[in-house]
Amino acid sequence: MKNKKYFIYCQGDILLTKEGTVPFGDCPVELKPWEKVTELLGGQVVVGVLSKPITDRPDLQMMPLRKSFHVLPAEDYQLAGKCAELVYFHQNSKFCGVCGGEMRWQTEISKQCKECGKELWPSLATAIIVRVTRGDEILMVHAHTFRDRHYGLVAGFVETGETLEECVQREVWEETHLRVTNIRYFASQPWPYPSGLMVGFTADYLSGEIELQKAELSDGGWYRKDNLPFLPDPSSIAYRLIMDWVK
Ligand SMILES: [Zn+2]
Repeated sequence: MKNKKYFIYCQGDILLTKEGTVPFGDCPVELKPWEKVTELLGGQVVVGVLSKPITDRPDLQMMPLRKSFHVLPAEDYQLAGKCAELVYFHQNSKFCGVCGGEMRWQTEISKQCKECGKELWPSLATAIIVRVTRGDEILMVHAHTFRDRHYGLVAGFVETGETLEECVQREVWEETHLRVTNIRYFASQPWPYPSGLMVGFTADYLSGEIELQKAELSDGGWYRKDNLPFLPDPSSIAYRLIMDWVK
């Protein structure tokens, strides 16, 4: 099929053409050694992994998936995220958690145990992210784990048995010792690092003085539009939440 697109990965990087597009048409490389993971859309999309990055082809490049946000069309970036999640799923579901049998692809996006028949779909780690405002100020924080000097919004993983709204309250309390009210859904975003869903909210400050959770955060506070710190990457829902407030 001439219109096939190839989403091929190696250690968190995606294989792109030198022009920064997803390879399409004929198989872009005599991908040896490579492994086909699955196919989507009836075979139009081929998902694969390389055992080592391709560095000797002038017409191809490896690029970190997050960086590909800045070169790929939006729909290809989202599809690249989905395919990366399927690669992660594949690499973490070789054997059945019930009986230890071999897991085989059953549909384009799920597997089944060859021995006991257990079916398995990729699991999403769901996290909330919340824009807390107080008058003309926004709450922004810098976590120890951030790889640059940007400030983001309060965020964290949803726990078992918790509603999204409870998670917002808990994370804001744990990270800053503030109480919030008027929690409203904003938007969501697949977050394939490695397999997540970010659910964005807005909330109003209710009470308390900022007391940062030192284990997780190195800095944080209230910022006005005229003194915002270094912002998150535009690929993130944090950036969208902040820019929505700025405008
Ligand atoms: Zn099994």
